[in-house]
Amino acid sequence: MLQSQLFAKTTKQAPKDEKSVNAQFLIRAGFVDKLAAGIYTYLPFGLCVFKKIEKIIEEEIEAIGGQRILMPCLHPRDKWETTGRWQVSEMFKLKGRSEKEYGLGWTHEEIITPLLKKFIFSYKELPCYVYQIQTKFRDEPRAKSGLLRGREFIMKDLYSFHSEQKDLDNYYEKVKNAYFKIFKRCGIGDETYLTLASGGTFSKYSHEFQTITDAGEDIIYICENCGLAINKEIKQEHSKCPECGKAKFRQEKAIEVGNIFKLGIKYSEPFNFKFKDKNGQEKLVVMGCYGAGLDRLMGAVVEVHNDKQGITWPKEIAPCQVHLIQIEDNQKLNKVAGKLYKDLKKNNIEVLYDERKDKSPGEKFAEADLIGIPYRIVVSERTIKKNSIEIKERKEKQSKLVKIKDLPQFLNEKLKTKNKKRQRKI
Ligand code: ATP
Ligand code: MG
Repeated sequence: MLQSQLFAKTTKQAPKDEKSVNAQFLIRAGFVDKLAAGIYTYLPFGLCVFKKIEKIIEEEIEAIGGQRILMPCLHPRDKWETTGRWQVSEMFKLKGRSEKEYGLGWTHEEIITPLLKKFIFSYKELPCYVYQIQTKFRDEPRAKSGLLRGREFIMKDLYSFHSEQKDLDNYYEKVKNAYFKIFKRCGIGDETYLTLASGGTFSKYSHEFQTITDAGEDIIYICENCGLAINKEIKQEHSKCPECGKAKFRQEKAIEVGNIFKLGIKYSEPFNFKFKDKNGQEKLVVMGCYGAGLDRLMGAVVEVHNDKQGITWPKEIAPCQVHLIQIEDNQKLNKVAGKLYKDLKKNNIEVLYDERKDKSPGEKFAEADLIGIPYRIVVSERTIKKNSIEIKERKEKQSKLVKIKDLPQFLNEKLKTKNKKRQRKI
C-alpha cells in the first residue's frame, strides 16, 4: 500500500471528548472515525486489523467445530416476548410502517433457538455448534471508552446444543481453550485472565476473560498462586480461591473481552426446543453460549500495546508487517525503495510504503510510531551506499543495518518462527 494514496490521514489531535487511550490513538492514527458516542467507522487500516482478528476467531472457533452463519439484526417483537426479554433497557426498539414492532439485536439466543429447532429433532443431530460474527446494538448508558464500549459493535457469538449436561461441560472446556488461543494470537494472552463471574443459569458461575488495563470497568481479584481470577461482584463469596484454596489475591482493573455461559434449558424451554433421545423420549436441548467482542478486543489490544508515541501492534494483527520509509527523494533511492517494495510484496510481506515527497523524515517517523507497524525500514542515501537498509522493531530503540539482498529472508525468518511456534501449540 502506498501511503500517499491513503485517504484516511493521521491527525495530531483526537476529538476532545475522547478520553480513552484506544480511541485517542486509533482516531489519530487513522484506524477509526467517530460518528457519535459509541459509534465508529472502520477506516482502511482499522478494517485491516479487524479482518485479521476476525480470521483468528474464525480459525479457532472452526477448529472446535463451529459452523458459521449470519443472523439478522432486525428482530420481530414476538421472539423477545417468548423469553420475557423485550423489556430489557439496552434494546433499541423501532416500529415499521404497519406499526409492527422490532428490536435491534443485542444478543441472539431468541433467534438461534427457534432457528435450530427447525433443523434438529434427534439425538443423532447433536451436539451442534453454530456461530456468527455480526453487529449488535445496545443502548449503553455510558459509551465513553472508545472501542471498548460501543452502542453498535461486532460480536462473535457461538451457541452450542447438546443432548445432556455432561456433553455441554466437555465442550465448555474446549471453548475456554479456544478463547485462550484467540487472545494469545491477538497479543493479549499474558494480560488476560479466566475469571469467575455471576450469570450462570444451570451452573453457579459464568466465566469471563478479563484483560488487565487501567481502562477497564471491572475489578478482578487474581489468585497469586494459581492465576484464576474472581470478579468483584462475587468476591465476597470467596475468601479463598475456589481452584487452589489459597487466600492471596491481587486486585486489578480489567475489561471483559469474552464471556461464556452454560445456559442449560433457559432458552430451549420457552421455545419448546426438544429432541428425541435413544429411547424415543422427548427432552429439552441443553445449550451453552459464548461471546467475544471484536471491537472491544481491538480496543483492549491498543490499551495494552502502546507507548507515548502511539500503538505497538502485536505482529499477527498489525495492519501491515513492514513500514517502508524513504526519507530522501532522488532517482536512485526511488528505484531502490520501489524495488524493495515490490520484492517484499512478492515474498508475501505486507508493506506500507511511505513514498511521500512532502513530509520531513521527522514527520514520517512520528507517523510511523503512531500507526505502530511492527517493523520500520528506512531507505536513505547513507545506507544505500552500503547496499543496506536500516530496520527497527517498533518496540525497540536500536535499529540494525541489514543488506538489501538479505532482507526478505531476514523478515521471513522472523515472521515464520512466530507462525511455526503457533502451529505447534495448536
Ligand atoms: P459488559 O459487562 O462489559 O457490559 P456484557 O457482560 O454485557 O459486557 P456480554 O453480553 O457477555 O457482555 O457480551 C459478550 C461480549 O461482547 C463481551 O464479553 C464483550 O467482549 C462484548 N461486548 C459487550 N458489550 C459490548 C459493548 N457495548 N461494546 C463492545 N463490546 C461489547
Ligand atoms: Mg458479560
